[in-house]
Amino acid sequence: MEARTSSAVVKTDQRVVGPIIMLGPPGAGKGTQAKLIAETYGIPQISTGDILRDNVARKTELGVKAKAIMERGDLVPDDLVCDMVADRLLMADCYKGFILDGFPRTVRQAEWLDAQLEKIRAGQDAAGRAACAPPIVLRLVVEYNQLLQRLTGRRSCPTCGLIYNVYFQPPKVQGICDVDGSTLVQRRDDTEEVISERLKAYEQLTLPLVDYYQASGRLVEVNGDQPVDAVAAQMLSALENVHRL
Ligand code: AMP
Repeated sequence: MEARTSSAVVKTDQRVVGPIIMLGPPGAGKGTQAKLIAETYGIPQISTGDILRDNVARKTELGVKAKAIMERGDLVPDDLVCDMVADRLLMADCYKGFILDGFPRTVRQAEWLDAQLEKIRAGQDAAGRAACAPPIVLRLVVEYNQLLQRLTGRRSCPTCGLIYNVYFQPPKVQGICDVDGSTLVQRRDDTEEVISERLKAYEQLTLPLVDYYQASGRLVEVNGDQPVDAVAAQMLSALENVHRL
């Protein structure tokens, strides 16, 4: 099977990859990079933000609870998010690994994830155990002003999910998706006021995860200020190195 990244066609990998975590502030490019890695290895991208937004749109019980919290730029309570992730990890497409984008976001979520992976591991055969081995953590480091421009300029296609940026990567026709002609949308939490709350939540609650994962020796830092392809190349090479160990 083949998957297309932004610059090349690559063979989808058949190996068991295990869990990968994308760590970084809002606007660092976690979603974009997670998509490329997911395509390359043939594993699912699990974006807690996307799952929550879908629940909000469908007005589920979870969505109703999460809506106002997300619109303020705060974090949804750990218990709600962990239950949601627990259900997702049990799905069949996680059989050779998965990439978490936007989770964990607190030390409590990270501790929960470690315990959850351990629990799943205990009931598995060898391949299943490798699929939920301790995670590899890819940390995207991006300069603050760059983050602000990426977030305020971000637009996405509601039909195909393609992400644009009005400053760095505009569509050919303003406000219209190049691929399917849909009208591009801006996320409700990508306004300046909410962005500053989200970045505050990141500094206070998520940044401590760097120490948490550094202690495990499985944290890889990548300079996220580079072009998308350069970041992707560094991440894929980091993953290859970890797998060779
Ligand atoms: P994102 O798309 O990752 O920027 O997430 C959008 C919003 O969803 C965040 O600002 C939070 O309100 C909520 N959210 C996403 N992931 C989590 C998480 N792991 N824990 C708590 N809240 C989350």
